[in-house]
Amino acid sequence: MSLKDIKHITLVLSGKGGVGKSSVTTQLALSLSLQGHSVGVLDVDLTGPSIPRFFGIENSKVTQAPGGWLPVPIHEGQSNEEQANGHGKTLGKLSCMSLGFLLANRGDAVVWRGPKKTAMVRQFLSDVQWGPLDYLLIDTPPGTSDEHISLVETLLKSATPEQLAGAVVVTTPQAISVSDVKKEINFCKKTNVRVLGVIENMAGFVCPNCSECTNIFSKGGGQVMAQEFDVPFLGSIPIDPMFIRLIEEGKRPRYPEGTIIEGQDMQANNSTD
Ligand code: ADP
Repeated sequence: MSLKDIKHITLVLSGKGGVGKSSVTTQLALSLSLQGHSVGVLDVDLTGPSIPRFFGIENSKVTQAPGGWLPVPIHEGQSNEEQANGHGKTLGKLSCMSLGFLLANRGDAVVWRGPKKTAMVRQFLSDVQWGPLDYLLIDTPPGTSDEHISLVETLLKSATPEQLAGAVVVTTPQAISVSDVKKEINFCKKTNVRVLGVIENMAGFVCPNCSECTNIFSKGGGQVMAQEFDVPFLGSIPIDPMFIRLIEEGKRPRYPEGTIIEGQDMQANNSTD
């Protein structure tokens, strides 16, 4: 079973698209990797797989080995163009699997019914040869869809409670997004997945000239929601225009140092490392 050597499995959820769930997943992975942990990222957002783009490795392909798929390794400085030139220094052990790597053309639409999505999710969980990992981060589609149900059902069967750390829920400060996220928290409660905490993304805009943070939307929605549901509030991330520009250039942006939570927040309750 490909999950047996993984210490902590974490889902990243959001109530709606565009709140920065995939961005947060990649930033968590980079931060954990730079802290020296071995990390895998599984992109289960089947209809909109964007993780390869956020890592700047859209042109990569997975290798089919006798025991299953080998995930794509990610290297420091390995944007699409650097990769073509053979440059790039290895991060901690960091690798990624996404449907995006399996599509014949990058922009191909994935129009699949529920059973096909369920089969794909199960195959991702059983057939990817991650090897030993400290963390597997799973980026999910927005909302609570077939993919979420298959994912949680399969994980509850094939991972131990010690391995299944729980879910990080991403929101933005707008009221609608916050109310959508309440549904995610309820989903976790119903499926017995622990909520590790809430991250509020795009919380204010930091002026590149004077560094003052302007709260474009109402402030503190994520924190209030976390209190209301009695789950930890993990932190806020401001809008960073440079982040979008670097992604458009096929590079791999990083949130500023200290923005993202420490590894211990991502682990299962009863774990010691
Ligand atoms: P989701 O996975 O929730 O659909 P994405 O992670 O794809 O959302 O983010 C949507 C867009 O917002 C992307 O273009 C991404 O680059 C941008 N984005 C996300 N977080 C930030 C941020 N903190 N600052 C600036 N842009 C961001």
